[in-house]
Amino acid sequence: MMLGFLLARAGVQVVVLEKHADFLRDFRGDTIHPSTLELMYELDLLEEFLEQPHQELAELRGVINGQTVPIADFSRLPTHCKFIAFMPQWDFLNFLSSHAKHFPSFELRMEHEVTDLIIENNRVTGVRAKTPDGELDVRSDLVFGADGRSSTVRDRAGFEVRQFGVPIDVLWMRISKHEEDPQQGLGFFQHGKLVVLLDRGDYWQCGYVIPKGAFDLIKARGLSQFHDELVTMAGFLRDRVAELDDWSKIRLLTVQINRLRTWYREGLLCIGDAAHAMSPAGGVGINLAIQDAVAAANLLAEKLRQGPVSIVDFHKVQRRREWPVALIQRMQAFIHRHVVTGRETSSKSSLPLFPLLLKHFPILRQLPARFIGIGPRPEHVCSPAA
Ligand SMILES: Cc1cc2nc3c(=O)[nH]c(=O)nc-3n(C[C@H](O)[C@H](O)[C@H](O)COP(=O)(O)OP(=O)(O)OC[C@H]3O[C@@H](n4cnc5c(N)ncnc54)[C@H](O)[C@@H]3O)c2cc1C
Repeated sequence: MMLGFLLARAGVQVVVLEKHADFLRDFRGDTIHPSTLELMYELDLLEEFLEQPHQELAELRGVINGQTVPIADFSRLPTHCKFIAFMPQWDFLNFLSSHAKHFPSFELRMEHEVTDLIIENNRVTGVRAKTPDGELDVRSDLVFGADGRSSTVRDRAGFEVRQFGVPIDVLWMRISKHEEDPQQGLGFFQHGKLVVLLDRGDYWQCGYVIPKGAFDLIKARGLSQFHDELVTMAGFLRDRVAELDDWSKIRLLTVQINRLRTWYREGLLCIGDAAHAMSPAGGVGINLAIQDAVAAANLLAEKLRQGPVSIVDFHKVQRRREWPVALIQRMQAFIHRHVVTGRETSSKSSLPLFPLLLKHFPILRQLPARFIGIGPRPEHVCSPAA
């Protein structure tokens, strides 16, 4: 959507195909980081964006083995917004698409599911889509595969995917929020276990990290043991865990980290999760996908106005985005290994070294803030506005 917005803004004819009838899907990542908010500022959309319902998080705190530790302080970032904004992804996508529709060259077609690529003389020249009115061929100078981590486009293109093993999955659920609850979202780390609570106004979006493939075992142990485990981590949920009275209220999201070796071929370029699926660790996936979109528009929009672009240009996009993505994926793998599934500490209340340093040296909290909030090689909008 972001790439469609930027290309249409540059005067390039764009059609965005979305397989669903709306963007309403629960438990999608909803974190809009300072880097993305800065792009909203550059696009002159920030003021209106902040008028949409959202929550702001200026400091990231964790409860580690029972001790509250400030982890990241966003208040000193060199950006206009010194916080993470939580906004449901459907609101964000509706916001972007409503602005994109102001450009005459932008078109969004819902309920258009890409099922195949059209390939002629080894060049991708369009896509085949399933629509409510039957099958449709959409021809184009260039196809962007931005269809997420189960990408049909990358599959049909025959790209090689490098998988990086992930030892965790996440269970997502909603739990009601009470007035006397903590005032902001928190991560509860305890002896290799993690519960994340995201403040969604009148409820908590609760993520419980489990070992990969362990959901069946957890279900076999029964709901009441699951309730007990949640309460052990976040005691204030004791009076309401019973709201989770059926496994259908608990959704399993499998976590993957992978990356395409080559993100492109003639007529096709993949970006976002289609090129590199991200773990939820750090909540950076949406923001990275947006950074890819900005980089692609910066490098390709002007050329696309003149006509088709070549794989030399796609290579430049991959070269620009690959190392920031690889660095963050490595960091996510590190977090999985050492923070989430780390060994139990000997003392029940002891803090590992890095959180201990963060607790006692506030200046250090700017490091995680910068890495999470802005990330390596932040992109800025340089594509033209027609
Ligand atoms: C459990 C979990 C929690 C996460 N939490 C966060 C978080 O808090 N913050 C964060 O920044 N990131 C988070 N992430 C990562 C984040 O969701 C992704 O990195 C990000 O959404 C990638 O954006 P994208 O646009 O590339 O793909 P997506 O957001 O997956 O969008 C792809 C779009 O393409 C559509 N589509 C798919 N197939 C087709 C098709 N064949 N034809 C037409 N349309 C199609 C889909 O409906 C969808 O709208 C999380 C990931 C997981 C697994």
